[in-house]
Amino acid sequence: MSKISGTVFKIKRFSIHDGPGVRTSVFLKGCPLNCVWCHSPEGIGSDISIWYNKNVCIACGKCVDVCPQGALMLTGEPEKYISIDRRLCTTTGDCVEVCPTSAIQFTGWVTTPSEVICEIEKDIPYFKTSGGGITLTGGEPLYQPDFAFEILSMCRERGIHTAIESSLFCPEEVIRQISDKVDLFIADLKIFDPFVHRQHTGESNLLIKKNLTFLVSSGKKIIVRIPMVKNITDTEENINSILGYAGSLSKNIPVEFIEYNPLAGNNYRRLGIPFPLDNLNKES
Ligand code: SF4
Ligand code: SF4
Repeated sequence: MSKISGTVFKIKRFSIHDGPGVRTSVFLKGCPLNCVWCHSPEGIGSDISIWYNKNVCIACGKCVDVCPQGALMLTGEPEKYISIDRRLCTTTGDCVEVCPTSAIQFTGWVTTPSEVICEIEKDIPYFKTSGGGITLTGGEPLYQPDFAFEILSMCRERGIHTAIESSLFCPEEVIRQISDKVDLFIADLKIFDPFVHRQHTGESNLLIKKNLTFLVSSGKKIIVRIPMVKNITDTEENINSILGYAGSLSKNIPVEFIEYNPLAGNNYRRLGIPFPLDNLNKES
């Protein structure tokens, strides 16, 4: 019996944008990049914490009553909301359990590949009729390479189509080990220039380009995706550079443009952390 476990923050059924057919997308926690525009900040850290959605809180105060750490306080006038002292929270989950509206939730859960497969197997009939399958995404799914490998291997054994959406920022040996288990790579190429890439994501993209070159030379099926972030990734220069680069690697790589989610800032507020893109926009 495999002892591997991993951390997931969402399983999304009936996804139609993450590869062919109807897909089940599994979101793995943890990412080595720190993109200033990231719309899933709950997927960046590999730790599990709580997040709070003020919009669905009915200010009943039940969470305050059960918190053993005194980390929660009902505050605000006239509209009440919960203020969280995250330094005190020990993630016991008492608040999550009693909240009647799911306004307080965990940002992920620890699970095993077998448990993930149990969820995925429920959707096999949809995969069969639509030509779909599973897509591992995140966060960065290759940040938990053993966990990802095991899920993909188990899908292979069951004849389920596998896709992975990744920045490809991971050690070369991870890409080499995992590539046999993946039918489709969806590679997020954000910024072409390595220096600008480092400026906005915290890392250079040289490793990403190296891994992409390896996948192309292995004959893997690849889609390149560019997230359209205003004045950062959506500039003519960046788009043309990525298009030219993808074309120089192979004439058969489709390039897709992904619209940016304007509500990304809400996820930062729920986690109680600043949204880097907001600060950047204020400075410019
Ligand atoms: S998870 Fe536990 S410690 Fe943290 S706020 Fe909720 S009840 Fe308090
Ligand atoms: S239990 Fe839920 S709904 Fe009630 S105050 Fe706490 S967060 Fe809001």
